[in-house]
Amino acid sequence: MSSYTLKKLSQATLVAKADDYIDTTTGGITPPIITSTTYARDNRYHPINDANLYGRDDNPSFIQAERVIAELEQGEEALLFASGMAAIACIFYTLGSGSHVVLPDSMYWGVFSWTRNYCDRADIRISYYDPANAESIADAMQGAARTDLVWVETPTNPMMHVTDIALAADIAHQADAMLVVDNTTPTPIFTQPLTMGADLVVHSATKTLNGHSDVLAGAIVTKEVDERWEKISAERHGAGAVPGAFEAWLLLRGMRTLSLRAERAAQNTMEIATRLQTLPSIAQVLYPGLESHPGYGVACKQMNGGFGSLLSFLVDGDAKQTLAVAGKLNLVISATSLGGVETLIEHRHSVEPPETGVPENLLRLAVGIEHIDDLWDDLHQALT
Ligand SMILES: *Cc1c(COP(=O)(O)O)cnc(C)c1O
Repeated sequence: MSSYTLKKLSQATLVAKADDYIDTTTGGITPPIITSTTYARDNRYHPINDANLYGRDDNPSFIQAERVIAELEQGEEALLFASGMAAIACIFYTLGSGSHVVLPDSMYWGVFSWTRNYCDRADIRISYYDPANAESIADAMQGAARTDLVWVETPTNPMMHVTDIALAADIAHQADAMLVVDNTTPTPIFTQPLTMGADLVVHSATKTLNGHSDVLAGAIVTKEVDERWEKISAERHGAGAVPGAFEAWLLLRGMRTLSLRAERAAQNTMEIATRLQTLPSIAQVLYPGLESHPGYGVACKQMNGGFGSLLSFLVDGDAKQTLAVAGKLNLVISATSLGGVETLIEHRHSVEPPETGVPENLLRLAVGIEHIDDLWDDLHQALT
């Protein structure tokens, strides 16, 4: 443990070590899965271990995963949830009625639709801004007596707009609002929003953090333990949206290879984006790692070492021709989600309502860690 204070470990080492675990009773170098939902007291009625009373908060398996996520994001503490949506909902549950929130007008559809429904019932007012232009956050705040929360997702899903996190933080803080960044897509390997002024980071750990498409989990990380954080932990304690011990253990296991997976997937994505641009059957490639992308400059500033594993492209054709491309793929699987070791493709226009404006000729590619030659062979035969 003392090594942390001598020299800050790199993220690759941090995840590989998984919080420096050595089991003191067996010497085992991987942690056990603690499935107990309750913990015994001694004959003077003192808890045998002060940290453990009941499994809704106290579980060594998920506390260990929380510590790794907090360190990856350079936050003070993290809390694990049963899913990304459970984590996100918990933040909104702590806002009072009459609050005002500012959200991007194009973002991950699950968050967009849930916040719209929930905020309506909870008497929370939403204003929307253009995620390709962080300055527009200030416009979205106009007319509100106060703003409580500003939400950033960057790059956005699936349009790949890039939002300047540092600028969003400045604008939010000038109005005393908190800045929350959904860091699911870039991962803490490439972007650490808490170091750029964000107050909270949220994750769908279901995606790249776990990386194997076999766990649903979410996390919130805080820059500091303050009154707001106490409210969020009280909400999780009360509402109890925690993962099971086995899920937390799988997540910890998945995270041990996070930096390798994230780097390989981002390299593959960059290569695919570059090559897709050369195909006549493609109208446009949306990936912030391309110099032609309007968010390239901001992405270079706030994404370090890679631009993530999500990209979208527009096929030169209509919905039918676009779906036909997906249908011709053999290696790449047609399925929703992202951040797994396997490459997935999705026609978001088929799954989102028309009002979100996702073009009918857009395909979203969630790139995995397969060999680039195999991925490219498959994409190339489907697109030529
Ligand atoms: C998947 C996802 C979520 C929701 O997470 P779940 O774990 O599916 O509940 C939230 N934000 C983004 C950006 C996502 O990709």
